[in-house]
Amino acid sequence: MSSPDIQLFNTMQQAKVPLQPIVPGKLGVYVCGPTVYSYIHIGNARTFTSFDTIVRYLRYRGFDVKYVRNYTDVDDKIIKAAKETGEDPIALADRFVKEFEKDVAQLRLLPPDVTPKVSETIPEIIALIEKLIARGVAYERGGDVYFEVHKYDGYLKLSKRKLEDLQAGAGERELVNEALKRNPLDFALWKAAKPGEPSWPSPWGAGRPGWHIECSAMSAKYLGESFDLHGGGLDLIFPHHENEIAQSEAASGKTLCNCWLHGGFLDLEGAKMSKSLGNVVRLRDALEQVDAEGLRYFFLSTHYRQQLAFGEKSLHDAEARVEYFYETLRKVDERLAGKDFGAGPVHGEPARFLRQFDEAMSDDFNFPGALGALSGLFAELNLLADKPPVKDKALVGRTLLALRGVVTSISGALGLFESNPGEWLLGRRARQVKAKGLDAAHIEGLIEQRRAARAAKDFAESDRVRDALKALGVETMDSPSGTTWKVA
Ligand code: AMP
Ligand code: ZN
Repeated sequence: MSSPDIQLFNTMQQAKVPLQPIVPGKLGVYVCGPTVYSYIHIGNARTFTSFDTIVRYLRYRGFDVKYVRNYTDVDDKIIKAAKETGEDPIALADRFVKEFEKDVAQLRLLPPDVTPKVSETIPEIIALIEKLIARGVAYERGGDVYFEVHKYDGYLKLSKRKLEDLQAGAGERELVNEALKRNPLDFALWKAAKPGEPSWPSPWGAGRPGWHIECSAMSAKYLGESFDLHGGGLDLIFPHHENEIAQSEAASGKTLCNCWLHGGFLDLEGAKMSKSLGNVVRLRDALEQVDAEGLRYFFLSTHYRQQLAFGEKSLHDAEARVEYFYETLRKVDERLAGKDFGAGPVHGEPARFLRQFDEAMSDDFNFPGALGALSGLFAELNLLADKPPVKDKALVGRTLLALRGVVTSISGALGLFESNPGEWLLGRRARQVKAKGLDAAHIEGLIEQRRAARAAKDFAESDRVRDALKALGVETMDSPSGTTWKVA
């Protein structure tokens, strides 16, 4: 079965373009990582999950992907946070790198191949700034170095803005001495040291890098001066990515990257999620309320470029959906365990779900389309497991096995349904028991009473216990291997 060609929406062209690796079979992917001054919020988590899924899919399609995602560990916000806690800024950043890694491991984000930090890339950053000064597009003033926007022709080609429309200093998230700039739109590449701030020696005196230069230096170091894909949330298009392009392309004379992918924002239902307004949901707080896989499923339920509204009901629905998938897998795995159905034909065409999945994902990573393929696949698994349209048990078994194989392939590419179904369902039940203030031992006791009553053919008693369980919101499921229960 040949897979469809991959088409990607390139922000630079504002259109879908075919994926054409610079080196056949290989892909260099750079994603702007977190500024590690605090715990990440669910918006950041959504963007990183989108790119994790994109990288997973590209690998699934056989590409040898080198995935680089940096840590901004030198930054005004980090310095400010460190002043508040009394920590050393680099130590504070290190602490939040560890917290970030703990958080995203729960979401099953694969560790990137390289996670460079600013503090470990200073020599490359200085060398790049020297090159830009030598090329006449950057200048030093009072120990700061600025990029001179008017000296670089391609400025704003990504964001399609106009220089004359930009307000003085617009978008500058950094504190710089405006008086030192030749033009208000010029941005800092290097900032002279201030007392109590981390600094490194440089040809312009002690100082530290500006925000944008790190990504130009890191991407060149690990992926070369031209690479395949560059990603981030859409707030990074301007000024961050625009500035990356200016720095990298002015220095190398080459195109920084072939394709720019930008993820849509996640907002709270009915409200913008904004750090300045204080209405931010941290990922770890969200994970107290919702299962990590439920959250991942929720993220994937919308196309990565579209805006996504975070609300309790949608999260609840996503988790219930994941429960349905795992219940199906538990049932099917039980059915298949230790059986040999022999060689032979299968019913229908299990591979059609894989094709549907591939068609969706190769069309600019259509996540909801991919979940649609999964829905069809699970409906088919349930049909075959519960009401098989054919009588031949071996044929049904072989088909279930083939469909289960398709689930495994898709699971790896989406980062979903890789847990042991029984364990995941127990975890979900334990969370619900806790949320509803139920007593699991009491429920287990009632189930045992019901079993004993049925064994003794005391049906009045068994009905009474069943009603008591129902009143608690507990649903029992009888199967050949015993009775399981869930919180309805
Ligand atoms: P930062 O640490 O602020 O540089 O953000 C890390 C990543 O999260 C960047 O790719 C941002 O574009 C992205 N991001 C920030 N806020 C949101 C949001 N509300 N929704 C989606 N992505 C976001
Ligand atoms: Zn960046």
